[in-house]
Amino acid sequence: MGFAKKEHEFLSAIGLAPENPGGFINGNWKASGPVISTVTPSNNQEIAKVTEVSMEDYEEGLRSCNEAVKTWKTLPAPKRGEIVRQIGDALREKLQHLGKLVSLEMGKILAEGIGEVQEVIDMCDYAVGLSRQLNGSIIPSERPDHMMFEVWNPLGIVGVITAFNFPCAVLGWNACIALVCGNCVVWKGAPTTPLVTIAVTKLIAEVLKRNNLPGAIFTAFCGGAEIGEAIAKDTRIPLVSFTGSSKVGSKVQQIVTERFGRCLLELSGNNALIVMDDADVGLAVRSIFFAAVGTAGQRCTTCRRLYLHESIYQNLLDQLVGLYKQVKIGDPLEKGTLVGPVHTKASRENFEKGISTIKSQGGKILTGGSVIESDGNFVQPTIVEIASNASVVKEELFGPVLYVMKFKTLEEAIELNNSVPQGLSSSIFTSKPGTIFKWIGPHGSDCGIVNVNIPTNGAEIGGAFGGEKATGGGREAGSDSWKQYMRRSTCTINYGTELPLAQGINFG
Ligand code: NAD
Repeated sequence: MGFAKKEHEFLSAIGLAPENPGGFINGNWKASGPVISTVTPSNNQEIAKVTEVSMEDYEEGLRSCNEAVKTWKTLPAPKRGEIVRQIGDALREKLQHLGKLVSLEMGKILAEGIGEVQEVIDMCDYAVGLSRQLNGSIIPSERPDHMMFEVWNPLGIVGVITAFNFPCAVLGWNACIALVCGNCVVWKGAPTTPLVTIAVTKLIAEVLKRNNLPGAIFTAFCGGAEIGEAIAKDTRIPLVSFTGSSKVGSKVQQIVTERFGRCLLELSGNNALIVMDDADVGLAVRSIFFAAVGTAGQRCTTCRRLYLHESIYQNLLDQLVGLYKQVKIGDPLEKGTLVGPVHTKASRENFEKGISTIKSQGGKILTGGSVIESDGNFVQPTIVEIASNASVVKEELFGPVLYVMKFKTLEEAIELNNSVPQGLSSSIFTSKPGTIFKWIGPHGSDCGIVNVNIPTNGAEIGGAFGGEKATGGGREAGSDSWKQYMRRSTCTINYGTELPLAQGINFG
């Protein structure tokens, strides 16, 4: 099945063709691996063909990228910032087109597709400022006539492996920071979103070319697990930033750690939202709706567990079920659609399997619970009433399924929030300052993202993003996340003529 002519015109506006080589290697587009079809999740029709890279392509890409490190790290950081500024401008020019491509290939609604590209632009802006602030500290030395300080230097190559659900934002969190820090980037996008990988790389490649810089500074591969594993094993890559499931992330971590490489992990979430008896119920309902249903439940920060105080339980639930019944499911590019399809046929099957496991564990479906018969991968947003100790509640089911449970006390709610293996995002709805401070303190949520009166999802780039426990412990984007993309040297300089030793040691 082919794609309409007008869609091919749209693709060519962002540098894509009906058939595309999926490797940006040493400044050239090439690939000699298998040819795959990439499809749109709303009808499973082919959008275009992509040739994935082979291991020979991978090797050539790494060799040239390793060479390009010498050029890139020599450039002063603010000059590297200027290149990232130009990348931001190139993305700005194509914001609408790229947003549409994200929506077409991933399946999220257009507003979210555009929002995702905007996030990369925001990251570019952030990184430009950062390029003048990669500061080290000066530390008072205990020895006379000595000076001690920190110097931050680039690592070399940063490998970035990304998941399908944010086919370009996650690249942005990593690449913008990695580049201003003086690292070259090797990117492997998700195998089911290769057109986004190619289109974004084309814009970056164009900026590098215009500035007479080696294209290999940014090397990109379309491919699957084999290429991901090669990145994990490659000793030329000191830092591997991996975004995906905890299952695959754990394998990647073992391989990278074995070779003493560094890993930045952004893995599965299983995020809870708690509503206290003193909460603004209307605000909570709107937040839960966005957090659980947005992106068809395929954000790492999607709300999957809802804990309601027994006194507001039925009232809130009735309002929420009412909203679910009105939600417009359909073509993500159509105006008014709030929920698009899940990403692949496999995601749809996974939803069906999940629902049957939920039922077998005593879960009661309050709304939804079925796939929608069509050529696309549509499923119904679902609310399930279930016992909080059911084992299915501990797992991440990557779709629009929300488990609802009751609690009596704040302590009980916090314990339930912390009772799963994952530790990404969490949120509480309350109007009591005491509850807020308990929630964010040492006896509160054990997650990396701890919100109050806002949804679990929709993080801003200025904060450090990531989670604890099986979510992997990584922090990306803002705050001081940049430090992970550099190596720190502690330098002590003796500008005197004596040799006093630390801790007052007298050595002969
Ligand atoms: P996935 O783990 O299946 O794949 C992620 C990436 O890993 C893909 O590029 C894939 O090709 C690659 N890969 C697969 N096998 C590999 C291997 N053996 N070695 C190296 N790389 C390999 O995940 P997915 O289905 O694409 O994405 C959904 C998952 O990602 C969810 O669990 C979601 O919570 C998580 N996620 C987390 C964050 C976060 O910031 N914490 C953000 C987005 C997605």
